[in-house]
Amino acid sequence: MAGPLDLAMLDPAATAPFLTKDEAAIRLAADAKAIDALQDRLYAEGTRALLVVLQGIDTSGKDGTIRGVFNATGPLGVTVTAFGEPTKPELARDFLWRIHAAVPRRGTIGIFNRSHYEDVLVARVRSLAPALEIERRYDHINAFERLLSDSGTTILKFMLHISREEQRQRLEERRSDPEKRWKFHPGDLDDRRSWDDYMAAYQVMLDRTSTEWAPWTVVPSDRKWARNAIIAGVVRTALERMSPKYPDRDWSGPEFAVP
Ligand code: AMP
Ligand code: MG
Repeated sequence: MAGPLDLAMLDPAATAPFLTKDEAAIRLAADAKAIDALQDRLYAEGTRALLVVLQGIDTSGKDGTIRGVFNATGPLGVTVTAFGEPTKPELARDFLWRIHAAVPRRGTIGIFNRSHYEDVLVARVRSLAPALEIERRYDHINAFERLLSDSGTTILKFMLHISREEQRQRLEERRSDPEKRWKFHPGDLDDRRSWDDYMAAYQVMLDRTSTEWAPWTVVPSDRKWARNAIIAGVVRTALERMSPKYPDRDWSGPEFAVP
């Protein structure tokens, strides 16, 4: 297990290592470009995959992260999957069934907007499954992610950490802004009322599912510019470590001369 992540000790308004918005913007642009180039190699290589899991409470910025971090990435090899309330056919299977069906194929980057972690977050807070079953899910998740990792998928998990006050402001904005009103769901207010329960559930999640093969990064997300730059940096570093290579093919022989 990686080192402990203590939510109460992590300031959602932190921006480190960035001091200014401009500095973060410059780094983000460079990292986004690098991610695009690396993604092209990953696709050409076609043997491994990257899975980016985005978790966070309502308004924490999951959609904005996808737009901000991957806006320079060619759409060819990227899939985004949003997980909402499970459908009837999904509920008729184990909780990982729909998740496994959406994992990125070799050569691609898969982004999860919410994920199997909802099954230990909202499910825990709202008691959507028996407590014993939810307890077992942490081990199932770790084993599942180990399987993906052993199968060539690098996994990065980001928890977008915002303060309670920041969420209040963002929900207020959603309620009133004509361009954001469509995103407002009265049900989000119930989740907000359960703020402490959610934070407790997130803490258990971090404690029990931070593994060497699928680490969590808690991203301070009150400042959107810091959030995007931090995540882009982690994604870039992970891709650089994977170091995907263009396949070495030799088409120099005369039989391949273009007629
Ligand atoms: P949104 O991301 O705003 O479109 O909302 C999706 C909703 O689906 C959220 O309220 C989630 O809590 C809910 N959701 C996602 N996954 C699950 C799950 N496995 N069980 C129950 N609710 C879920
Ligand atoms: Mg929502």
